[in-house]
Amino acid sequence: MKDVIIIGAGIAGLSAGFELYKKNIDFQILETSDRVGGVIETLKIEDFLIENGPHTFSSMSKETLDLIKELGIEDLLTEANPSSKKRYVYLNNQLIPVPSSLFEFFKSEILSREGKKTVFEELFIKKEEKEETVEEFISRRFGREVLKNLIQPFLNGVYAGDVKKLSANAVFPRLKSLENNYKSIILGSIFSSGFKNSFKKLTLYSFKNGMETLPKEIHEQIKSKVTLNAKDIEITRAKDFFVVTFKVNNKPISYTTNSVLLSIPAYKIPEFSYLLPDEYLNNFLQIEYLPVASITQVVDKSKIKKELDGFGYLCAKEPHKKLLGTIWSSVIFPERAPQDKVLLTSYLGGTYHKKVTDQSIEEISNLTTKEVAETLDIKDTNSIRTLNVKIYNNALPQYNIGHIERVSRIENLMDRNYGLFFTGNYLYGISINDTIKTSKSVVQKIIKFLNTTVKKEGKILLTK
Ligand SMILES: Cc1cc2nc3c(=O)[nH]c(=O)nc-3n(C[C@H](O)[C@H](O)[C@H](O)COP(=O)(O)OP(=O)(O)OC[C@H]3O[C@@H](n4cnc5c(N)ncnc54)[C@H](O)[C@@H]3O)c2cc1C
Repeated sequence: MKDVIIIGAGIAGLSAGFELYKKNIDFQILETSDRVGGVIETLKIEDFLIENGPHTFSSMSKETLDLIKELGIEDLLTEANPSSKKRYVYLNNQLIPVPSSLFEFFKSEILSREGKKTVFEELFIKKEEKEETVEEFISRRFGREVLKNLIQPFLNGVYAGDVKKLSANAVFPRLKSLENNYKSIILGSIFSSGFKNSFKKLTLYSFKNGMETLPKEIHEQIKSKVTLNAKDIEITRAKDFFVVTFKVNNKPISYTTNSVLLSIPAYKIPEFSYLLPDEYLNNFLQIEYLPVASITQVVDKSKIKKELDGFGYLCAKEPHKKLLGTIWSSVIFPERAPQDKVLLTSYLGGTYHKKVTDQSIEEISNLTTKEVAETLDIKDTNSIRTLNVKIYNNALPQYNIGHIERVSRIENLMDRNYGLFFTGNYLYGISINDTIKTSKSVVQKIIKFLNTTVKKEGKILLTK
């Protein structure tokens, strides 16, 4: 009898597995595809190292840094080039640097004079207790210009979502808590030491061989605990345990287990709907996912007039622009492209361009070339060569209004001593750091369940 069967070997499932491994708890990870890492995918194409999924993670998370230390792979880390600290927004047909100090803010063209004045009126805006959309929250406190010119582009880079639907409480919990505790976000950010400290010495990391190093290294250290190509996975509830059956190369295999951890995206949970009481299934179904295509291109450095001196740019919502933004990959990590080339990764899709999934690779590539050429003032579009296009039909879970309640009901299901647990980027944060942290805390719940309900009390089963 296994203690835990984990379904899915993205970073959520792998980091949960590694946590169990450290604690000597018997588990097995079943992954349907032939590789680990899920959306974390690094490719070597010609002389270029490219990322289809995430490019970086920040130094803000103790859990991720601890994991890297425990794996013994700190020497494989690489820091983002300091010159990539600068970020741009594409607005009114130009790239405008995002101000990083009060002085820069006053000089910046990112907001009009009126827009800047409205920002400081935030000091006098009353707090609001009820859950709000990002649009309601930001425009109420800082005005519509901040929403359009700063927040919408920022969210393009994280959720690619709709500010009219995203929940401010779920997306900006720290800003909401500053509002609650200090009555003003500006005052809160001045007086809250926790808020200030979290931005001190913020470093962006990847690995010398790309982000896929992390899942691959976890896999390497728990190899016998990961089954790839696990097809037709079925989980049945026996009296007080689960039976998990699946096939590898058409060969049937089965395990019995005390608990199951589903570390697959929320939109995949219905594959196991028969395990959940009906009232719980909706919480997963209601989490919207949006598509994103990641387009990697290369350009001769000599063809770009503008000096690329930053991380890249995110686009404000402009009628003639479809791209969410472009990362200047070889500025962040210069060793990823030959010196005379520039490596660019653009993103297309999200809430305003859902039809990306109906477009051909050629259409996506041409549209990206056209927009990148306009933005970076590259006259010769033939000098932009597409290396790779990856389409994620369900790239990013949306933390829309009601998210916090949905997650608390999912948590309630985990706490009912049923033996069924969930982890992934659709719960408590969308980044790699958040996902690792979520897995670590869900493993604590599993351990508690194994130590109490299974070992001592016998399981209390829900009846469907
Ligand atoms: C384009 C893009 C860019 C991003 N950029 C960043 C970034 O720069 N920084 C950052 O911190 N985060 C970024 N993220 C977010 C981050 O990469 C993800 O949140 C995180 O990797 C999700 O991990 P996961 O394990 O929850 O899900 P996934 O990576 O989706 O893994 C789920 C796994 O489950 C498997 N699976 C699915 N169904 C089944 C089944 N029925 N049976 C068995 N296995 C199954 C899948 O094959 C997959 O391996 C980005 C995401 C995307 C899509």
